[in-house]
Amino acid sequence: MNLTIHRGTQEIGGSCVELRTNNTRLLIDFGIPLVTPQKHSFDIKLLNHKSIEDLRKSKILPDIQGLYKNDQKGIDAILLSHSHLDHYGFLKYVNPDIPIYLSEGAKQLIDVSDIFIPFKAGGLNVTVMHKKRKLTIGDFVITPHLVDHSAFDALAFLIEADGKRVFYSGDFRGHGRKGVLFERMTEHPPEDIDCLIMEGSMLGRSKQRYENENEVQKRIEEILKVSDTITFLFASSQNIDRIVSAYKACRRTHSIFVIDIYTAFILDKLRTVSEHIPQFNWKNVRVKFLASHADAMVKHGYRDLLYTYNRRKIDMFEIDRKKDKILMLARDNSVFPSIIKKLTKPKGATIIYSMWEGYLSETFKKYCAEKGIAIEQVHTSGHAPLDDLQAFAHAIDPTVLIPIHTFHGDRFHDLFENVKTLEDDETFTI
Ligand SMILES: [Zn+2]
Ligand SMILES: [Zn+2]
Repeated sequence: MNLTIHRGTQEIGGSCVELRTNNTRLLIDFGIPLVTPQKHSFDIKLLNHKSIEDLRKSKILPDIQGLYKNDQKGIDAILLSHSHLDHYGFLKYVNPDIPIYLSEGAKQLIDVSDIFIPFKAGGLNVTVMHKKRKLTIGDFVITPHLVDHSAFDALAFLIEADGKRVFYSGDFRGHGRKGVLFERMTEHPPEDIDCLIMEGSMLGRSKQRYENENEVQKRIEEILKVSDTITFLFASSQNIDRIVSAYKACRRTHSIFVIDIYTAFILDKLRTVSEHIPQFNWKNVRVKFLASHADAMVKHGYRDLLYTYNRRKIDMFEIDRKKDKILMLARDNSVFPSIIKKLTKPKGATIIYSMWEGYLSETFKKYCAEKGIAIEQVHTSGHAPLDDLQAFAHAIDPTVLIPIHTFHGDRFHDLFENVKTLEDDETFTI
């Protein structure tokens, strides 16, 4: 079996892995990079009005024969580990005859993103994988494993062919709400792994203040307990672990969790995967309507759902009246100042900043300081820290460990055993 990592050996984001036998070609993930080939920060606008040929020439799209819309189909299938754009964002360029395999949760989240975010994956040829059920594609036998990650319903893959066994970790951690999956995997690891392709996002990042999702929930709870005016939560609506933490903190402090239509729709769609995900009509949850979200729902034929969500609608007047009991999901965008303007006393409010701190801009910090709004960072990463990566690699004990999804692949040699670092597009025979 041959392995080629087309992108991801030296960077976080844009992961794209190919496994190949004499008869079958399999691709795993096909995401948008976070950095350009020149290692500048990647702007999605670089994709605007560019043809596939242009993007291939400028090396923004990797040069993979038989993958793209304008090529004859040469890839048998694509496996998708999870619904983060750095793993699926380029699928719209793929030949639609190539089937894409993914989890139910990933499918639902990509469908919702296609309605609300400007970047569209668009009409993918998808098949939902059943967890732990083996799937055969040509020479390959694939077993998906559910993993703990900030993307809901994320998968790792055990892939067998030519008498060899490869394990692709995807993005993972052990300190989220599904941390037990990490424990189980390290206690009962897949055996006889010839090659482990493992992420290393956290190498080079500093130690986290909040070590796990429970601590995040506890801190949100403490903030709500002492708050005498509105509290905002800046978090990704797709980070379901975080939404659950916020919901639970609200339940325990008798606060109202105000979500928007986009979030209500995400939670609604994921009902098919888990009945434990909070819903818009659960106690303590209310929905704030935003015109742009309502327009997007109507445009995509979800007018009826809007009527349903309307039953739990909360307006700014009620939010202002009950402000000391409100946790409102919001974001650093043009809507936020208009919310602040409608409050009688925004001064003293707190923003719980529950995303990667790199997204927090100086301009926004200044705006908040002027308004007397405090920002407190309460976040835990979607990725495993070094000691968990080491425990994981040690448990699997592969013949070869290949780093991916890291800016510090070279450090793997000092930190792990049996490491083989590759260059992008280099082919390695397993
Ligand atoms: Zn990633
Ligand atoms: Zn991810």
